[in-house]
Amino acid sequence: MGSFDLTEKNGIKYFTISSFAETGLVKHGFSTRIGGVSQGSFHSLNLGFHTGDSWESVKENRKLFVETLEITINNLVAANQVHKDNIYVAGVKDRGKGALSQDTSIPETDALITRDPEVALIAFFADCVPIMFLDPVQKVIAIAHAGWKGTVLKIAKKTVEKMAEEFGCQRENILAAIGPSIGPCHYEVDIPVIAKFQENFNRWESFIQLKDKGLKGQLNLWEANRITLLEAGLLYEHITVAEVCTFCNPHLLYSYRYDNGNTGRLAGIIMLKD
Ligand SMILES: [Zn+2]
Repeated sequence: MGSFDLTEKNGIKYFTISSFAETGLVKHGFSTRIGGVSQGSFHSLNLGFHTGDSWESVKENRKLFVETLEITINNLVAANQVHKDNIYVAGVKDRGKGALSQDTSIPETDALITRDPEVALIAFFADCVPIMFLDPVQKVIAIAHAGWKGTVLKIAKKTVEKMAEEFGCQRENILAAIGPSIGPCHYEVDIPVIAKFQENFNRWESFIQLKDKGLKGQLNLWEANRITLLEAGLLYEHITVAEVCTFCNPHLLYSYRYDNGNTGRLAGIIMLKD
C-alpha cells in the first residue's frame, strides 16, 4: 500500500513514495509548485518548457529540482508526451535527451522504461495522472503519463507488459504509484469520454459516477488506473495512490483545469542508483 509523503529540502517541496524509498534502489520524487524561480501564473517550480514560461526559468527550476534529488541534469531523459500509448525503452545513450530543451525529447512517447542506473526518467503533469513503476527484483523502473486518453488506452498495463517482455519482470514484484492529479471531486466529463470508458472497461461503473440523467459523469482516473494495474497482474498491496487532487490544491500543485490552461507543469522523476 505505502504512502505519498510530502517532504521539503532546499526550500523545495516534493512527494516521495514510501514503498519505493524503502527499497533503497532509487532516487525519486514528484514535484510541487513550491521552491522555484518562475513568476506569475507559473509560480514557482514550473518544470515544463512548452508552457509559455521563460526557458531560463524552467532550466533553473529543473536544475534546482534534480539537485534536490541528488541527480545530475544531464542524466535526465524526457519524452514529448502526446496522450497516446507509445512506450520507449531508454538507456545510457539517451541521457540528456529533452533535459534542456523540448526539441531533443524522445518523440511521441507517453511512457519511459529503463534498467540502466543513472538514467533519470522524467515526465510532466498538470492534472493528468503520473504513474511510476519499480521492479526491485529485476531492477527496472518506468514512468507513464495517463490523462483520460492514456487511461482509456491502458498505458499503465502496456507499460507493465513491456517491462515483462523486455526485462523479464514478474508482475507480482512490480511496485506502482499513482501520483497527484485531478481527482474525482473535480473531473467532470461528458458523453464522448464516458462512452470510451464504457467500451474499454467492464468495471467502468466503479470509477464513473453518472449525473445529469447520464449526460455527464464524475471520472475517477485514480481508480481507473488502479483497476488497470490490477488487470495487468500487480498486487493490490503494491499499488500506492496519492489521492491528492491538483484542482483542490492550487497553491501546492499546478492544475490545468483550475488555471484554465495557463499554468506550469509538475514532474515525476525516478532513477536507479548506481
Ligand atoms: Zn478536487
